[in-house]
Amino acid sequence: MKGEPNRARARTCRCGARYETEAFAKLTQVRTLEAAELATFMVAWPTTVAVEVRTCAACDAPLAWLAARSAPVSRGTTGSSRTK
Ligand SMILES: [Zn+2]
Repeated sequence: MKGEPNRARARTCRCGARYETEAFAKLTQVRTLEAAELATFMVAWPTTVAVEVRTCAACDAPLAWLAARSAPVSRGTTGSSRTK
């Protein structure tokens, strides 16, 4: 029995700091790129995956993290409804 299931969920910074899911969630959040936003950059981006960017507590480097989202039910959004 090899391979820890949690290993893929850990995020390692270039400084060596390692964050499990819970620890990462406590880091300072820089911003979150929601699936709808990412879809404008990526050809095929799953609607259920967002990217969270947080700051490493040790070296302040930004760390990106794929965050699961529940499938959006909004079908009425045509793209022009956002005022920002
Ligand atoms: Zn770091």
